Amino acid sequence: MKKTRNTRQRGVILGILRESHEHPTAEIIYREARRVLPNISLGTVYRNLNFLRDQGTVREIRPSEGGSSRFEGADTPHAHFHCLHCSALLDIPIPHALESLRLEEEKRISAVSLIDLHILGSCSGCEAAAIH
Ligand SMILES: [Zn+2]
Ligand SMILES: [Zn+2]
Repeated sequence: MKKTRNTRQRGVILGILRESHEHPTAEIIYREARRVLPNISLGTVYRNLNFLRDQGTVREIRPSEGGSSRFEGADTPHAHFHCLHCSALLDIPIPHALESLRLEEEKRISAVSLIDLHILGSCSGCEAAAIH
């Protein structure tokens, strides 16, 4: 019984992440999940997110400017743009220059498993607000 319940909770959480492009926080996922599973707790959401992250199904993004971790399904590799003024977190393609990076030639490094790129700045919405 317990296993079935866990699988269902995980399925609901994954579904929320696959449909959202906003990189939701655990709290937002929790609010969404409660519509389908009214008895789910925030602790359960965190436990499932940690499990899925450790499994490699979900990516956790820790904003460098602080604040809550954001989550997304880990299907396609991409870089992230963080707006320093609002909570916008945008998916951007990994620059081609990085794909040809050969860090293996660096003696201190033996293998590269992931390139995780974060670019910080102002989103176009915040730039427009600053002008007016
Ligand atoms: Zn912004
Ligand atoms: Zn993303």
